Amino acid sequence: MAHAVTLIQGDGIGPELSEATRRVLEATGVQFDWNLQDAGEGVMAEHGTPLPEHVLDAIRGTGTTLKGPITTPVGSGFRSVNVELRKTFDLFAQVRPAKSYEGVRSRYEDIDLVIVRENTEDLYAGVEFERGSEHAEELTRLFAEWGNPIKANSGISIKPISAEGVERVVSFAFDYARANGRRKVTSVHKANIMKHTDGLWLEVSRQVAERYTDIEFEDRIVDNMCMQLVQKPELYDVMVLPNLYGDIVSDLCAGLVGGLGVAPGANFGVGGISLFEPVHGSAPKYAGQDKANPMAMMLSGVMMLRHLGEHEAAERLEGAIARIVAAGDKVTYDLKPHRDDPTAVGTSAFADAIIEAMQHATV
Ligand code: NAD
Repeated sequence: MAHAVTLIQGDGIGPELSEATRRVLEATGVQFDWNLQDAGEGVMAEHGTPLPEHVLDAIRGTGTTLKGPITTPVGSGFRSVNVELRKTFDLFAQVRPAKSYEGVRSRYEDIDLVIVRENTEDLYAGVEFERGSEHAEELTRLFAEWGNPIKANSGISIKPISAEGVERVVSFAFDYARANGRRKVTSVHKANIMKHTDGLWLEVSRQVAERYTDIEFEDRIVDNMCMQLVQKPELYDVMVLPNLYGDIVSDLCAGLVGGLGVAPGANFGVGGISLFEPVHGSAPKYAGQDKANPMAMMLSGVMMLRHLGEHEAAERLEGAIARIVAAGDKVTYDLKPHRDDPTAVGTSAFADAIIEAMQHATV
């Protein structure tokens, strides 16, 4: 049976990456029933919003969505489509694998890490008070009254972490580890300093871990975690982190394997909603030039295949991407030793090479 998937092509380089990704996904032989939708600045004139209700309905309807990058218009008065999607579907778990591929330049080899970032709480909850505002001054008065004085005229950001929020994302990380043949989950925190937020994170992490006796569990303090990832990344497997640390450490891990341009991502919400997209943005300067690298969006497609239970097709597609990137001749400019290499191919030729490699695969 065909898998129903909403495909939002995005803007900037989004449409060409989406087309290349759709073609390689279909070349696996897996059947898709695509629901094509547009969102972003391009639909604002017609619908008065960058994220119309019918797009949300499509996402609800198919459950699974593949999305190209979408530009956030500066000063338009509209919130980012990406932020809006996260809030609407309560996309609480962001998954960002960091894996080495031969042919992608990096200082490290054989990295194979997965970051699970809590995506709704923590300092990103948006509870902030401007320096000098009525609320900031009131809070400053209250803090003094409670015996926790802060300097007058401070800006204030609140870091809420709830037991429910930790429970669902840490359970997600263990389920992900189990479903993807992973051996260990590391919960990352700063519980020695922030006892009531990160301390709660650690306490609930430990409680959840007791339910998953088949997966190893450990915890690390975030600063130590960063040093260890740079010195001995091979010791780690799946890591689960609160929002802010997850943001920072996932970029650190992307840096271990060649940067954001090749980093895939996925977001999981309540009620079975999942959204797969590259980590990079819409790179407007390359829009329409058939030049940008589709690898991150294709690897997001590989994650989607696994999520849909199409493991064999996922292996085949990932293997073909890996072989083409390792061979290094039919790759986009950014994967060449020099960016102005005249032998670099375009987005669509890169996809053609991957499709051909899949057709000639022995596995
Ligand atoms: P960007 O990722 O678009 O670009 C950063 C740099 O990487 C640029 O030099 C760009 O040319 C290059 N690059 C990115 N992807 C590439 C690819 N596939 N192949 C080759 N080169 C690539 O980041 P930015 O410039 O900060 O953002 C541009 C727009 O994208 C902004 O409006 C931002 O809000 C949006 N954005 C969207 C998403 C999303 O939809 N999830 C994520 C990040 C940024």
